[in-house]
Amino acid sequence: MSRSFDRLLEKVVAEPGKAHYRSVQRLLEAGPGEEARLCATADRIRAGQVGDAVHLRGIIELSNHCRAECHYCGLRASNADLVRYRMTPEEILESARLGAVLGVGTVVLQSGEDSWYDRSTLADLITRIVTELPVAVTLSLGERSYDDLQAFRQAGADRYLLKHETADPRLHRRLRPGRTLERRVRQLRWLRSLGYQVGSGCIVGLPGQTCDSLAHDVVLMRDLDVDMVGIGPLVPHPATPLGEAPPGPVGLTLRVIATTRLCLPQAHIAATTALATLHPHGRELALQAGANVVMPNLTPLRYRRRYEIYPGKVCLDELPGHCLTCLKGRIEGLGRVVGRGRGDSPKWSREVGESVG
Ligand code: SAH
Ligand code: SF4
Repeated sequence: MSRSFDRLLEKVVAEPGKAHYRSVQRLLEAGPGEEARLCATADRIRAGQVGDAVHLRGIIELSNHCRAECHYCGLRASNADLVRYRMTPEEILESARLGAVLGVGTVVLQSGEDSWYDRSTLADLITRIVTELPVAVTLSLGERSYDDLQAFRQAGADRYLLKHETADPRLHRRLRPGRTLERRVRQLRWLRSLGYQVGSGCIVGLPGQTCDSLAHDVVLMRDLDVDMVGIGPLVPHPATPLGEAPPGPVGLTLRVIATTRLCLPQAHIAATTALATLHPHGRELALQAGANVVMPNLTPLRYRRRYEIYPGKVCLDELPGHCLTCLKGRIEGLGRVVGRGRGDSPKWSREVGESVG
């Protein structure tokens, strides 16, 4: 049994682009001994393809207003218990400046779906950040119109994170009322056509999700050839319809991360905060199972508690400087190095050549 698993591993490593989703599913179903070999193989492929650098993406959670109703998320519009906030463009710029001073090469502007930030407000903000600071801008603002996405790209945003969440179309529709997988994938294709480095990902442990459906998640990301990946376990939020669901399994989340590394050898894969929230060494485990990105929090402390996508988030009281020092220590503790510069997608750097600097 074990030998056939190792043969399968070798086969997927040799031809990642061709692995059938049934093979991917078998990897996701790895037993305990097999899981260790899967993660070790992903770690080896990560080292060979993208090296030992762990890139820092400083996240600025600029607004917790959201018009969507995702069943898993504490920011959903109908959560009346949440005190809502919006950062002003000046405050966002200040947080980005702090990130640059602390040596972060990318800032991620993330929020609920909040149309208060209109096209020109965001475009002006993006231009100010990229002209004033030596950082790349990643957006994670949910679904926006094509014209908005185009304007943000022209303003200087290079990357966009939009997790497809689940590749099971029925589960997707059930957990994201009014939304569809098809629409999410269309947005991802728009982003690609506009020249963004594109990020996607899924939540692991959604009620009703199977290894069959997780295999489709991995294969979808491979077929979209995404540059960036975020995979995290479900952390149930009591004020949501999934409040009573069990948390996503840490082992399964690591297997999804490792399998994704095998299928997308050059992707930037995050060791997510959700994983760190469910396991004291969640980030380290992910970094040893194929991940090569961490996301220190740059959101001002006065807002941070209110960006409660899920409860019990780690680092809620850590000043950005402390957060960074702690993460750097963890990275070096694993014998890895902190990434320097913008940390673009290797594929994108090749395509755009010297122009990205
Ligand atoms: N509104 C944007 C970005 C903010 S949400 C969007 O939805 O794309 C960022 C991510 O948080 C989502 O992609 C989702 O995968 C994750 N998330 C939300 N609720 C969660 C929960 N309870 N457990 C784990 N991850 C969650
Ligand atoms: Fe809004 Fe994003 Fe949360 Fe969905 S996951 S409710 S879009 S913040």
